[in-house]
Amino acid sequence: MRIHTLGQVRIVQLHDGYGSIDGNRVFYPAKRADWAEGLCPDPRGYMLNAYQPLLITENGQHTLVDTGFGENNPARKGDLQADLEELGVARADITRVVITHAHGDHVGGNTLLRDEQRVQAYPRAEYLVQESEIAGIRARNTALWRESFAPLQKEGQLRPVAGRISLSQAIELWPLAGHTEGHQGVHISSGDQDVLFVGDLGLSIKNFHRPEWGSSWAWSLEEDEANRRRVCEWASAHGSIVILYHDPRTPWFRITATGESYETEPA
Ligand SMILES: [Zn+2]
Repeated sequence: MRIHTLGQVRIVQLHDGYGSIDGNRVFYPAKRADWAEGLCPDPRGYMLNAYQPLLITENGQHTLVDTGFGENNPARKGDLQADLEELGVARADITRVVITHAHGDHVGGNTLLRDEQRVQAYPRAEYLVQESEIAGIRARNTALWRESFAPLQKEGQLRPVAGRISLSQAIELWPLAGHTEGHQGVHISSGDQDVLFVGDLGLSIKNFHRPEWGSSWAWSLEEDEANRRRVCEWASAHGSIVILYHDPRTPWFRITATGESYETEPA
């Protein structure tokens, strides 16, 4: 676990485990020869992928950003709870859950299966999701809606938010649509430090070297790229640390603008 303190705020990067992902889809439309250096893809182009939710603690209040695969996800079981236990944080201690977007590796842990019923995994938390994200998955009525969101709505714990909103003195939600219709990031600022958790705005640090390379399954490739460019510009101007959910090697970095493109350095 990586722990970073800024002012009164503690940020912990949690680990929900590892998997693999197709680099040709992460860096669409680049060719393998252009993206593969340093990423060790297998013959099919699959490379290591990590799942890394964030825990933000401010004045004793815990905010969890994304819930990982969860215990009962058919795709795989997540390991997030082991980290929370090690930190001494119980499920009931978490009072806010921010959902960056509604994909199974980010929301599978929203609920738990108990006596064949889906119940909220964080009984005292409000779950904050962009309104447009909720509208999309609700209209499609997928298993993800029924298993990971509907039980929260039933208990009055689902809190739709619209646009950029402030949750506290240090924490803001920033809409960063593109990967999905209501994808959002979390901006944390305290003292004179900025940290921006960007969820899946990029899956690898290399998506920020080349903002025109984005995940091929994005809801909107254009918005995804436009927001990546905005974040590159903003983060380089503010010296902000940028944090990714999936990059297993360099999930924390700073960005510098170099003429037409961007350079990064680990933070
Ligand atoms: Zn993801």
